[in-house]
Amino acid sequence: MGLRFQQLKKLWLLYLFLLFFAFFMFAISINLYVSSIQNSDAQPRHPKPPPKRRSLWPYKNIVAHYIGKGDIFGNMTADDYNINQFEPKQGEGADGRPVIIPPRDRFRMQRFFKLNSFNILASDRIPLNRTLKDYRTTECRDKRYANKLPTTSVIIVFHNEAWSVLLRTITSVINRSPRHLLKEVILVDDASDRSFLKRQLEAYIQVLAVPTRLYRMKERSGLVPARLLGAQHARGDVLTFLDAHCECSRGWLEPLLARIQESRKVVICPVIDIISDDNFSYTKTFENHWGAFNWQLSFRWFSTNRKRQASAKPKDSTAPTATPGMAGGLFAIDREYFYEMGAYDSEMRIWGGENVEMSFRIWQCGGRIEISPCSHVGHIFRSSTPYTFPGGMSEVLTANLARAATVWMDDWQYFVMLYTAGLSLGARDKVNVTERLALREKLQCKPFAWYLENIWPEHFFPAPDRFFGKIIWLDGETECAQAYSNYMKNLPGRALSREWKRAFDEIENKAEEFMSLIDLERDKCLRPLNNETPRTSLHPLTVGDCTSHSQSMDMFVITPRGQIMTNENVCLTYRPPKQGSLKLLVSRNATTSNVMLMQCAIETSQLWTYDMDTQQISHRESKLCLTLKSATNARTQKTEKVVLITDCNFKDITQKWGLIPLPWRM
Ligand code: UDP
Ligand code: MN
Repeated sequence: MGLRFQQLKKLWLLYLFLLFFAFFMFAISINLYVSSIQNSDAQPRHPKPPPKRRSLWPYKNIVAHYIGKGDIFGNMTADDYNINQFEPKQGEGADGRPVIIPPRDRFRMQRFFKLNSFNILASDRIPLNRTLKDYRTTECRDKRYANKLPTTSVIIVFHNEAWSVLLRTITSVINRSPRHLLKEVILVDDASDRSFLKRQLEAYIQVLAVPTRLYRMKERSGLVPARLLGAQHARGDVLTFLDAHCECSRGWLEPLLARIQESRKVVICPVIDIISDDNFSYTKTFENHWGAFNWQLSFRWFSTNRKRQASAKPKDSTAPTATPGMAGGLFAIDREYFYEMGAYDSEMRIWGGENVEMSFRIWQCGGRIEISPCSHVGHIFRSSTPYTFPGGMSEVLTANLARAATVWMDDWQYFVMLYTAGLSLGARDKVNVTERLALREKLQCKPFAWYLENIWPEHFFPAPDRFFGKIIWLDGETECAQAYSNYMKNLPGRALSREWKRAFDEIENKAEEFMSLIDLERDKCLRPLNNETPRTSLHPLTVGDCTSHSQSMDMFVITPRGQIMTNENVCLTYRPPKQGSLKLLVSRNATTSNVMLMQCAIETSQLWTYDMDTQQISHRESKLCLTLKSATNARTQKTEKVVLITDCNFKDITQKWGLIPLPWRM
């Protein structure tokens, strides 16, 4: 009896164990399945800081931005599209913390991501008035502002924005702005069709603590016409524009209004912090970032030091930084000044280009654009656009950019049109910008050359005193290489001058001949080693086919000082092997080189010299010469050609380089 009981007990335990084990395996496999779905469906993620806002071009990874509008519904139904699942949980997302979606909701999370290109399930769990940290420096927190500041109307335009995201934007504006400074909130609906944005929204805004009005566009027009409509109805002294997916953090408004009170010609932007599209965490970004544009006129953040120009006190860390370009989504401007300066180009449709146009216009016509380090506003950066693009995405974008370039860029308009995917000189003829040209005339705006020289002296565009073109390897065999070397070798006084300027002039005289001789297949041009350039700012170099554009980084601008720069603000840079980071580089890029393309920072490691006599390019400080070498790729074990610097030897054919100019203006 006792024995049988013992046996039964054992069997029973074994049975329980097996049951438990089976359940465990089942749970694991479900989990694996969910994460495999997530991965396969993953959107290309944003690089986190630095934040970017504008990426225009269907240009490999520069523009992961506009991949997926596709069929909005996909496997979604109209109900999914119109449903509002906002269900806040207390404390969720508090202090800007991330939201973790419970495993049982992961499928739904995936499915719903596409609708907004962000994780709406995360947003729907966060209360509208979630707390955020205070992201300001002590100096900013301690700063006292005048009692009487100008009032503002906050203008938020939206197209099919998600409910909880839109309302959290509005709530953060209302809760974190001093009541006496916030005149009103103005919403403009750019012809959304989601049902909760109709009566439900109208009812909701009735009861807010600050007068909030909603206007609707009759038809889908884009953010420019929508903002213009909002501005028309605004009564505050200052217009503050925000995207519909922002969160204002403590003290965001006062620094903006105070700066405009100081000088009404300043267009002032907050620091744009990052709200994760994935889990809605709030991440502070760097206060000393400033913005400008790449060769395709996409907005880019830069981090090289700029002195804070706008302060009387020399080292005032609360003073705004002047920025050549604005991201465009978030800024404040004096209302009357907005109109004096020509508001917006009302012909710009849907999205894009308006920030370029406004940046050039404000600076060239006597205003300033600045970023206040004391004002922090979060923005959801998305890696694709969830909404439709009536008129065609690239058509609309190129038309907007062609307008901006034609009106403001003078000679440089040809440059962006010639070397920008999607734009061609023909783009100019399709746009009618008579009115905007008249505005430029009326406001007596300065030329684009002035803007580049004075507002953006660090720029990496061509200029009359710079070289622009290809750098070819003079292997001594091709016709072009021979013609070039012979020409150089016979120039009188060639050995006496190491001035780049002299070389530029001599080469310019023969530009057409060299260009006509270049054999795009046989000649070898300096370019990044990896065609698929990752979104890092470090690129090893090689030589290759002269037509293969790698994000235009096979065309170079050389300054008279000897910086060799290219698109995206990267410069030819010597990285001595002693720096600890080289090991890392070697393993990451899996090849050995002490020369890289990396962020221009006006350092001695980025200054080069050209010897017309020997056609060598040498690093000015170390006096080492740019050389083409074979190196073994540490990862693939394959031999590849890499450009680096070694001791100079004037007989060495692997050290000879030619500069072949390309046209960039008419
Ligand atoms: N927007 C709009 N109509 C459009 C496109 C955009 O009203 O046709 C709004 C959009 O809802 C957002 C703002 O304009 O509030 C900026 O657009 P988005 O956030 O997509 O630009 P990004 O921040 O990605 O540059
Ligand atoms: Mn946005």
